[in-house]
Parts: sequence; structure tokens; C-alpha cells
Amino acid sequence: LCELYASGALRAVAASLPVNARFPPSQRLLDRVSLYQGDITKVEVDSIVNAAKRSLLGGGGVDGAIHQAAGPKLVEECETLDGCETGDAKITAGYNLPSKHVIHTVGPVYSRSRAEQCAHLLASCYRRSLQIASQHSLKHIAFPSISTGIYGYPVPDATHIALKETRKFLDSEDSDNFDRVIFVVFSDEDMDVYQELVPLYFPPD
Ligand code: ADP
Repeated sequence: LCELYASGALRAVAASLPVNARFPPSQRLLDRVSLYQGDITKVEVDSIVNAAKRSLLGGGGVDGAIHQAAGPKLVEECETLDGCETGDAKITAGYNLPSKHVIHTVGPVYSRSRAEQCAHLLASCYRRSLQIASQHSLKHIAFPSISTGIYGYPVPDATHIALKETRKFLDSEDSDNFDRVIFVVFSDEDMDVYQELVPLYFPPD
């Protein structure tokens, strides 16, 4: 073994290990993650995340669907928030939604030439949303696939980021009183990507 290590062969093997080797197996953590295919405005949980615009005043895609289902009081509360920076998040009530709260986060508009910056900003959206949910003692959070619609983020790359930030959060003591993270996907293609990648970040025991 030592000989192999000295020759660099072991290090080469370590570098090519699959992602799951970096996240120890944990059935307990896997049990706190769900995938759901459908409309996020129908999900009855403590909080759903909105892939919002910086103005927080509504838009298309999931943002439009959430405002439509929540009713006009949502935009009235959003008007008091003074917008939101890309990568940050702000919380409101859920009004007519079955979800008690909406956590509005602003994802990056994807650009291949600024891919690294986009990755940091998208990771920050997940981190901030999870932080806010835990600061408000919420038990669950349902995420749409932030930035992968109108904002053009490639779904596999965005999914890696979503799962990695969720794993880090569930590994931390900030999530001690937290029950569940739900990923809400719309299309069959997105479902396939999540189903393939979840076991990399949440390997069962
Ligand atoms: P962004 O502007 O951040 O790209 P979009 O709303 O365009 O946000 O898309 C984000 C993701 O949300 C896409 O995968 C899209 O298919 C999905 N989506 C759109 N409407 C809904 C909905 N009602 N429930 C769940 N996901 C939705």
C-alpha cells in the first residue's frame, strides 16, 4: 500500500473516486430527502421556495404560478421587502397557498462564460433558503429546480449544486430540528436527473 501511495497511484485513484465516496452513507439523512414530480403550488409543507426575480414582484414560470396561487396579498408583502440580491433569499407568508411560507430566492441567469460565479450564486440560493427555514424553525422546505427554466442553468449542474448544499445542511447542526427537504421537479427529464444524482450525495447505508 505504502509503495502504491509513494508512486502516486493511490492518490490518482482517490481523485477519481465517485462523488458518493466523499459523502458517507447515511440512511437517516436519505430519509430526510424526497423527490416529488408535480406542481409546487399544491405542496402542503411549512415552506416552498420561489425562483424569484430581483424585484420580488412576480414573473413567469414557477414565480408566476406561486403568485397566482397565493393571491394578491403575496405581492403586497413582497413590495415591502425592497427586492432581493441574486444568491440571497427572503421569507413571506404563503397566503392562499397550502404552504405556510414562501422563501423567495433569486437564482443567477446562467452564462457559460461566468459558470463558476453562477455556481457560487446558485449554491448560495440553496444555502440561504435552508438557513432561513431553520432560523424560522420550519420543519420542511420544498425546492423547485432554481434557475433551470427561463434562467437557463443546465439541469445536471444545477442538481449537483442543489444536492451538495442540502447534504451539507443536513450534516450540520443547523438542521437538528429540521424534518425534510423536498425537491419538486416538473418534467420527466428533470426527475431522471434527480433520481440518478440523489444516491451520490445521499448514499444509503
Ligand atoms: P428560473 O427563472 O429560476 O429559471 P423558472 O420558473 O423558469 O425559474 O423554472 C425553474 C424550474 O421550475 C423549471 O424546472 C420549471 O420547469 C419549474 N416549474 C415551473 N412551474 C412550476 C411549478 N408550478 N411547480 C414546480 N416547478 C415548476
